[in-house]
Amino acid sequence: MRRSIRRLMRRREVLAGGAVAALAGCAGPQADCGPGAGDTQQFRWKLVTTWPPNFPGLGTGVQRMAEMIDAASGGRLKIKVYAAGELVPPFEVFDTVSSGTAEMGHGSAYYWKGKAEAAQFFTSIPFGMTSMEMNGWMYHGGALELYRELYDSFNLIPFPAGNTGVQMGGWFNRPIDSLADLQGLKMRIPGLGGEVLKRAGGTPVNLPGAEIFTALQTGSIDATEWIGPYNDVAFGLHKAARYYYYPGWQEPGPVLECIVNAEAFATLPEDLQNIVRLACSATNDQMTAEFVARNAQSLTQLRSDGDVELRPFPADVLKQLREITAEVVQELVDRDPVAARIYESFSAYRETVADWSAISERAMLNTRPG
Ligand code: CA
Repeated sequence: MRRSIRRLMRRREVLAGGAVAALAGCAGPQADCGPGAGDTQQFRWKLVTTWPPNFPGLGTGVQRMAEMIDAASGGRLKIKVYAAGELVPPFEVFDTVSSGTAEMGHGSAYYWKGKAEAAQFFTSIPFGMTSMEMNGWMYHGGALELYRELYDSFNLIPFPAGNTGVQMGGWFNRPIDSLADLQGLKMRIPGLGGEVLKRAGGTPVNLPGAEIFTALQTGSIDATEWIGPYNDVAFGLHKAARYYYYPGWQEPGPVLECIVNAEAFATLPEDLQNIVRLACSATNDQMTAEFVARNAQSLTQLRSDGDVELRPFPADVLKQLREITAEVVQELVDRDPVAARIYESFSAYRETVADWSAISERAMLNTRPG
């Protein structure tokens, strides 16, 4: 049965022009496309991203993933990476992969809240979990199953494929001493963090990365969060605003996602499917490691920049933002039964992992001199 399904899939794929029957085994009228023939087929896929071309950590990490898949498959699965705007605009990545115009995509689930509000939970919840805790929830806490279920109706298969770690709170053109200072603040901040800012009296804007610097420099926004020192310096945000706040309450451990068109994935032989899975998993690790190392280097650079003031958010501001977050999340859960299911899983896992994190990571960090 399995053999005939594979044969059918390969036939459909050849008819659709999605694969090249590279060697004679599968090419002639008498071709035998049975088991074993799959290892001669070449697949050429497109991968669209929400990131600027070769953007440090994100664009480069995706390119590395494509090269990893090429090498691991012996050149049988070749993936051409398109940066934001090269094939489609950044916020069309989801639709482009859903429709099969491109077979793969890389971005963040919270960009797609217009498709499914609950998707935001799979990126990050403000004041939620760190990258390690999110990985635990994804791989061992039931999140990945819920993530796949949510994306199934869009003809997509999601894979965690990167995590920036704790982000920075962002760049502001004025000090934030109290919640009142957020009144009227126009800030680039996507996802649930943006909803929280709105409730606090600000105006959230969702801009793709490439548009942030100009928007901040020209004053069309008053503040922005992006990622952390590594990527913020790459955009030159330190030249467009003075105050750099921490911590990134809005994104404590955001998951980056790779999405694959479900039909395209089904056309791959099993070994290539496994290579895609493993490459996403390896990318998840490698991007996360890169962000830790490079953020640290860029922070050193920023500390020596006399024009940048690095500041913690006042405790009272964080406390109030946390209270608003609870309201925003509760309202989402109340109006969306899918979000309610996902949040139930998130909350149950968070409760248990917080207990462990407190006596492991937090306790250990507190023993260090700096
Ligand atoms: Ca961010």
